[in-house]
Amino acid sequence: MIYTFNYKLNYFFGGGNMISSAYISVGSNIGDRLLNLRQAVSLLKQNSHISNIIVSSVYETEPVGDVVQDSFYNIALRLDTDLTAFELLDFIHDIEQRLHRKRIVRWGPRTIDLDIIDFGGQTIKSENLTIPHKERDNRRFVLVPLLEISADDANYHELIQDKLNKTSDTNWINIIESSEVFN
Ligand code: ADP
Ligand code: MG
Repeated sequence: MIYTFNYKLNYFFGGGNMISSAYISVGSNIGDRLLNLRQAVSLLKQNSHISNIIVSSVYETEPVGDVVQDSFYNIALRLDTDLTAFELLDFIHDIEQRLHRKRIVRWGPRTIDLDIIDFGGQTIKSENLTIPHKERDNRRFVLVPLLEISADDANYHELIQDKLNKTSDTNWINIIESSEVFN
């Protein structure tokens, strides 16, 4: 009986995993880019294993690489979760599928792309998950929104500022909407 009770408590409170803070980058450059971002944020907010979401302003950014395509809209998010990094990866893949993401060309256009940039300060190198995200330091469209939302996390903020000072990426990035569009 006690076991059953605990099992149910754990079920409701997330299986007893510890809480981790994660940073996620989201981008879109097909269709209604702002709507795609808003739907992704809304699906994250609906997950009972995710809380305390902070969202950046919306940035319009120049596509990286040689594929001719529309500009991107990018945001960064910070959240707390009792999911593991692998469970969170499954969930963001689920969001991509639900928003009808099409995978056509590498680094090409996409309705929505969610990447886990950092997770609980962990280092992970597995076949389907690398943390920190391997392109983090090469992309101003990741670093600039991350800098904005990490003001309360002094060590991380300093790390991101340092990466931004050193990055070789020169692509343009402009704020186009405040984070209030996600309220
Ligand atoms: P992109 O590199 O442009 O984001 P995809 O979104 O198609 O390309 O991702 C390809 C694969 O990258 C995913 O299937 C996922 O398993 C893997 N991957 C590795 N590390 C990460 C991470 N930190 N966040 C998200 N996906 C990751
Ligand atoms: Mg991705």
